[in-house]
Parts: sequence; structure tokens; C-alpha cells
Amino acid sequence: ADFNTYFLMNADEVILYVKEKTDFFDKDAELSCTEIGDGNLNYVFRVIDEQSGKSLIVKQAGDTARISDEFKLSTNRIRIESNVLRLEGELAPGLVPDVYLFDDVMNCCVMEDLSDHTILRTALNEGRIFPKLADDLTTFMVNTLLLTSDVVMEHKAKKALVQDYINPELCEISEDLVYSEPFTDHNNRNELFPANKEWIEENIYGDDKLRFEAAKLKFAFMTNAQALVHGDLHSGSVFVKEESTKVIDPEFAFYGPMGYDVGNVVANLMFAWSRAHVTNADEKYVSWLEETIEDTVNLFVEKFLASWKDNVTDIMAKEKGFDRWYLDSVLQDTASVTGMEMIRRIAGLAKVKDMTSIEDEKQRVAAERICLSAAKQFILKSASYKTGEQFLKVLKDSA
Ligand code: ADP
Ligand code: MG
Ligand code: MG
Ligand code: MG
Repeated sequence: ADFNTYFLMNADEVILYVKEKTDFFDKDAELSCTEIGDGNLNYVFRVIDEQSGKSLIVKQAGDTARISDEFKLSTNRIRIESNVLRLEGELAPGLVPDVYLFDDVMNCCVMEDLSDHTILRTALNEGRIFPKLADDLTTFMVNTLLLTSDVVMEHKAKKALVQDYINPELCEISEDLVYSEPFTDHNNRNELFPANKEWIEENIYGDDKLRFEAAKLKFAFMTNAQALVHGDLHSGSVFVKEESTKVIDPEFAFYGPMGYDVGNVVANLMFAWSRAHVTNADEKYVSWLEETIEDTVNLFVEKFLASWKDNVTDIMAKEKGFDRWYLDSVLQDTASVTGMEMIRRIAGLAKVKDMTSIEDEKQRVAAERICLSAAKQFILKSASYKTGEQFLKVLKDSA
């Protein structure tokens, strides 16, 4: 095969590809390759040299969905993913995989193999504890968000980045799946857990005030080009190991509200808590989760203000009290997005394992209602939550 024209590779072709395009492995190494992806649009291959133990990952973007070629999506997203991983690696060293190669013909990103880590969602559903999680994720968010904003960046350079990461197609997915369908089901593809269907129809679709807030949030998501957000920072996009945290899969990255990332992290921790709560999980695990939810907000606040002091360049952003005013608006967005993510994963098309793997019907109903009730508070009273303790209280009061 030559790799000068795009085609979707199989595992054998990926081996030839890696030998041709990189000098990562020894020339005569005997490589094996398996497809390990779990998504609908991308192909993730792991290539390993059993002899030396060296390995890498090749992620190739498809131009149609794996289940139906009616659904088309530009492969530009793998360019975005590769470039954003590199930028995030500079801004938040050690918190993303190394990128070895980006190939815009084959639409591949060749990167560090993190197979010694576990996907956070899987680990959380097994009740595992990661002491550094909140610390690492808040460093990642403060560094990648504040340092790509107008507060810090030279404004023309920032606008050039805005242009690089317009990402219209993946933004549209979020506009539909997060900000529209969970409130309207206008595309008739929401999947509701039957025992919660009536409740959702009455309390989500049927709540005019909530829908009005969702409308406001949708247009804020589309127009507030505040920072280069990851855009898909749920617990399936985080790899963890005892002392290590790595963020992957930034193909949804674009210039949007900082709170979009922070709210996604908080919401996904709250899914894990709700699941733990209804299934009577180990107490030590539950208290670690609660601390992690609190720390995610509190450490974000602390590091944000410290980084602001060190890095702010804009003359007007230096006005006394402006840092706190700006942060408060990010926290308000965080609360709103926490609510939006919790609603869309239960009342929308895309589900989370935290909920769907609860086997007992009563427990599942309860876990979903905890999330949905908390979500409504976060959206309807978004300006009220400034500390981790306040965020956690909304969740616990909903249980
Ligand atoms: P998608 O965009 O299709 O969701 P992801 O980047 O999230 O793709 O990767 C899908 C899966 O592939 C991950 O859940 C993980 O199991 C595996 N994977 C992705 N990147 C790596 C990596 N760098 N090292 C090891 N496994 C990976
Ligand atoms: Mg993805
Ligand atoms: Mg993914
Ligand atoms: Mg992806």
C-alpha cells in the first residue's frame, strides 16, 4: 500500500503505515496490531513490538459513521485533535499523551500509548480512588483555558486560534445533543429510561422556565469565544493511573465558554456519585468522590486566581476586582453546564455507563432523578454556586 491517498486502514495496513511513516520501532521489529476503539466515528489501533515492549497508538478519523455511511463528518477533526493535544501538552505538561505524528492525508494521529492507564469512567464505576485527580484536572483546565483567553494572549494571536478551531460540525453535534434535543426531542431520537419517561416529559420537556434558560445557554455556547475548550471533557476522555492523569480526545475543541469544560468534569463526577449513592458503594470511595467534587471547584478557583495574577496581560483585565468578577461568570457557566450535561446524558441520545449499568430498576430511577433534580437547580439558580461545598450540597440535597 502507499499512503498518499486517504483510505481506512485495517490492522495489517496500520503496521505497514507505522513502519513507513515513523522510526519509532526497530526496522526489523515484528509488530502486532489490534483495533481498540469504542467510538462510532474513529478507529483506534494499538501497535506493539512484543520483543521490546514498545507500543504506540494510531487514531484514524473516518469520514462516515461506522454504523451508517449516511452520516458524514469531515476528517478535519483529527487535525484539530492532533494540534490541540500538542498545544495542551505545552500549556499543561504531562497531562496529555505525546503526539508523534499528524498525517493530514491519511487523517491519522500517532500518539503515546496509555494502555497502562484506565478510562476514568470505567475506574469510577469500579469504585477506584485516584488521589491526584482533582489536582491534575484543575491544573489542566486552568492552564489550557486561562492561557488561551484574551486575558492572557495577545489579542490578534488569540483571534488566529479562534479561526484555527472553528470546528462547525462537532460544535453542531453539541448544539443538538446538549443544548436542544434534551428539551424538545424534536429529532425524535431521545432515549428515555421507560420508568423515568413520564417524569422527564413533565419536568424537563414541560418546564418552560428551564427550556428558556437552556435557550440562553445554547446561544452563549455558540457565541462566547472565551477560551480554547476541550469540548468533550467527560470521564471517558480522561485516562487515570495511581499517580497519573491524562486527558485525551479533544476533537470537539473550539473557542467557547471556559465553564463548558469545568461543568463537564463536575457533572461526570456527579454521575459517579449518584451511582455510588443508590448502589450503597463503599463509604471510603464515596467520601473521596465528594472531596473530589469539592476540590474540582475549589482548586479551580484557587489556581485560576493565582494564574491570573502571574499571567494577565490585558490592561483593563488588571482593574481591581476584575479577576473575581470574571471568575464568577465562569463559575456561573460551570453550574449551568453541569446541569446541561447531567440532563443531556439522561434525557438525550448519548448515555453514560454510570447510569445504564445500574441493573436494579428502582436504583436506576433514583440515580437518574438525583441527577435531573440537581441539574435543574444548577441551571435555574446558576449564579448561586461559588464553592465546591455549594456544588456538592445541591447534589446531596437532591438525593
Ligand atoms: P473517540 O473519539 O472515538 O471517542 P477516543 O480518543 O476517546 O476516541 O479513544 C477511544 C478509545 O481508544 C479510548 O476509550 C481508549 O480505550 C482507547 N485509546 C484512545 N487513545 C488511547 C491512547 N493514547 N492510549 C491507549 N488507548 C487509547
Ligand atoms: Mg471523540
Ligand atoms: Mg472518546
Ligand atoms: Mg475522538
